[in-house]
Amino acid sequence: MNPIRIAIQRASDERPLLLFLADFPDVPTEGFELQLPVWRPGRYELGNFAQNVYSVEGFTPNGDWVRLLKSDLHRWTVPAGITRVRWSIYANELNAGSTFVDADLVYINPVNCVLYDPARPHLPFKLVLGDLKADWSVGTALKHEGPVFHAAHVQELMDSPILAAKSLWHQQYSVKSYDFHVWVYGDQMPDSERFINDHVRFTTAQVDAFGTFPVQEYHFLYLFPEREVRHGVEHEASTVIALGPSEKVLTEEGYMELISIASHELYHTWNVKKIRPSEWLPYDFTKACPSRLGYVAEGVTTYMGDLFLLESGIVDVEGWCRIMERLIDRHLNNPGRFNLSVAESSFDTWLDGYKPGIPERTSNIYVEGAILAFICDVVIMDKTEEKASLQTAMTNLWERIGQRQIGLSENIYWAALEQCIGEVGALASVRRAFCNGTGDTWLVLRAAMRSQGLELSREQGDQGRWKSRLERIPVEA
Ligand SMILES: [Zn+2]
Repeated sequence: MNPIRIAIQRASDERPLLLFLADFPDVPTEGFELQLPVWRPGRYELGNFAQNVYSVEGFTPNGDWVRLLKSDLHRWTVPAGITRVRWSIYANELNAGSTFVDADLVYINPVNCVLYDPARPHLPFKLVLGDLKADWSVGTALKHEGPVFHAAHVQELMDSPILAAKSLWHQQYSVKSYDFHVWVYGDQMPDSERFINDHVRFTTAQVDAFGTFPVQEYHFLYLFPEREVRHGVEHEASTVIALGPSEKVLTEEGYMELISIASHELYHTWNVKKIRPSEWLPYDFTKACPSRLGYVAEGVTTYMGDLFLLESGIVDVEGWCRIMERLIDRHLNNPGRFNLSVAESSFDTWLDGYKPGIPERTSNIYVEGAILAFICDVVIMDKTEEKASLQTAMTNLWERIGQRQIGLSENIYWAALEQCIGEVGALASVRRAFCNGTGDTWLVLRAAMRSQGLELSREQGDQGRWKSRLERIPVEA
């Protein structure tokens, strides 16, 4: 199959403008449409990336460039006879999901800047990055030779960021037969030996738990910019993690935040990229795709990502208690959890999941989802005398659903958890009260901690804010 060939180049030395020149093969005689994704996987809200587009033009058989007209907010009509299209975008934002260019960095997330033909999603892509110098380093999961990058189809392209720079810190490690690459762009660098050792630890623990890893080669792409930023975005065979200002990574607190995000993002390689809600399989980039399963996608990942820091020895029980206290504080201080269940809030992230929104309206899928995951984990452990756990269910889902690319539904998820217990309905009351309902978790949460040998208490401070305390219960002599 002939690929769509796209040359990408900086348009100017003065302004952060990126120019795309695309040649489409075998176009239909009646013309076609071009779509810019309206959202990006990992952030379940509309992205409005078209606001960064200056112009979209087509090259006519007469040899003129003409402006293409829109048929929708993020869609352009390409008239019959045009096979070559160019567009320019403003690329001045440096975060885990953006696109950015300057003299020594080309960082591209195709999902927010590459137009594709929605009627022909199976076409391969060949990208040529004109600004890449021969001695630059490149971190990406895409196959590439020099400045030429290949994606098998639109799903792979949109899920594969490219980080190319004059100078990138790089190290590689292997776990079982899988290769992992760590790439860093930034002025500051954490202690590199500790950084890689910790990666090896949480990677080994997760791969051991799931048995196998979804991809042969994986890339961690780190950005430590000068401005305040803190988030990560998961991809099929890579992740981008941004933490700034870059001095943060030199502090113990900033470093632990970084490792916690890294463990979370790696867990997504199974949970979301493979154990994927059916609404997102495959990704439909043309419209909002709400799912009630955000509490699995982000809640289970938040809880398990941090639990693997404990299981791999990166933090001890006290360290894990501090992480859980921060999570529980956010939970207790969110009155929105009494208004909209975490399942309904999952559906609604497309409205206000990533901004404060109106007061006291929604649950937070990360926080309330992680608390729910913990409660489920303890119920499974208690009912099976610790022979099974939430991870047992996730490993089963990876084998049964993820490896076969079957979409996840709510019923499949809850059935997998109850199957570990061997009792249909064993989690029905938890699901009713804390997933589909807006019940107060406090007493159940406290009892769950107690069954793990931990005492959970809380007190109300200034302006009624809750502060939790989690401590080991002393073992009686
Ligand atoms: Zn996540």
